[in-house]
Amino acid sequence: RETGSGGANAGIPENAVEIARRHLVQPWPVAGSVGAEARALIDDGEGVYITDGDGKRLIDGPAGMWCTNLGHRREELARVMYEQAMQLSYNTPWYTMNAPAAELARRIAAAAPGELSHVFFTTGGSSAVETALRFMQFYNNVRGRPDKKLILSRGGAYHGSTYLAASLNGRPRDRDWMDGTDDLVVKLSSPDPFRRPKGLDVNAFANLLVEEFRDRIAAIGADKIGAFVGEPVQASGGVIVPPDGYLQRIREICRENDILYISDEVVTAFGRLGHVFASGDVFGLDPDMITFAKGVTSGYFPLGGVVISERLLEELRRSNHPDAMFAHGLTYTSHPIGCALALKNLDILEDEVLAHAREVAPYFQTRLKTLEDLPLVGEVRGLGLMACVDCVADRESKNPLQLDKAVGARIDAHCHELGLLVRPLINMCVMSPPLIITHEQIDTMVAILREGISRTMEDLRREGLW
Ligand code: PMP
Repeated sequence: RETGSGGANAGIPENAVEIARRHLVQPWPVAGSVGAEARALIDDGEGVYITDGDGKRLIDGPAGMWCTNLGHRREELARVMYEQAMQLSYNTPWYTMNAPAAELARRIAAAAPGELSHVFFTTGGSSAVETALRFMQFYNNVRGRPDKKLILSRGGAYHGSTYLAASLNGRPRDRDWMDGTDDLVVKLSSPDPFRRPKGLDVNAFANLLVEEFRDRIAAIGADKIGAFVGEPVQASGGVIVPPDGYLQRIREICRENDILYISDEVVTAFGRLGHVFASGDVFGLDPDMITFAKGVTSGYFPLGGVVISERLLEELRRSNHPDAMFAHGLTYTSHPIGCALALKNLDILEDEVLAHAREVAPYFQTRLKTLEDLPLVGEVRGLGLMACVDCVADRESKNPLQLDKAVGARIDAHCHELGLLVRPLINMCVMSPPLIITHEQIDTMVAILREGISRTMEDLRREGLW
């Protein structure tokens, strides 16, 4: 099999990076280089590895964007997409249906906690969150509570790039240059134990978060609040693992106040934390809705969805508005290729990969934790097969090194040289490899990271920045 920029696709010219610089708008660009940016070309992938345009093989440290869970070039996944396309490539979900979508919904409902029984399929994570929020609005309209629509979200959150989902985002740069609807969203504190207020132990910090949650609901009025949306582990906010018991307490308060609990598992579902869904199996939660995407197809096809509780659907069916329409759907809702692929992905996950992910996760966390002896590293934290190396200006203040130091990007550049792709996040690096990663590959990953961080420390010292 040939590699090089032409790759498997004969007819693609060799100078793809130059063409991109002239014609491709890449996601998350800065104004100064929008539509004019060169990024590392990735040509090819196999297992946990990807190969860049220069033929350099790299460990896919972030699993693409937390999504290539079963790894690259898995033949059964490629085959099932081909076979489904040769049988039925598309059907309109508006007044027809297909069998893979029905069967996938059954399988997902079986793996989901509590009363979650039905699935609405979307094209990815943002459209899944957007769907859950619009469903909440519809649900409260039908139930005669048109004012119960505010959405509780938190600092450090990332829920997507469509307008309402993006309005929930709470990471440092999300809203600097971007609009959003603040009228519909209430922001609470991030449950970040590392940067908790000085003098509080983690239990006291959890109590403070729960108190804030209760107080804000009391101040606003539960009759104005429709939903809480939260990632079980805040992923793109820097792998924030909340204090023990905090999520369960938030869930209870939501129940007491008839506020829907929407668990955003776009990252954490499909094996990242060792289970199909983490909400129930890791955190003991029974959300009213769970959003998912990414790992559902291991990134081979854009698919996401919302799992919805039987209780909510039953309430709608019993409403006095049998004709009220949830006027919401996407051309690619229940796409047969995506759903057939996801069924095969789920087979492989349940038969082979979940057990492996659970087995290898403690090793992954323990080995990464050894990087804490490097003075630039404030903390290495994580859960399952997601982790974050958080770099600090100094360990006492825990202040992140600022953007202009581009620490994450510097570490990424060094690691790329050494054979590892890392995901830079301002002062942090996120690691979330394909779930099939072996102990030996974890050793290699950690050794490269150590060297990449060490070289970054030397650069910063030499440039007088640290
Ligand atoms: N929710 C979470 C928790 C995410 O991490 C992401 C994407 N990183 C999204 C939603 C949005 O998903 P997508 O990029 O597929 O639209």
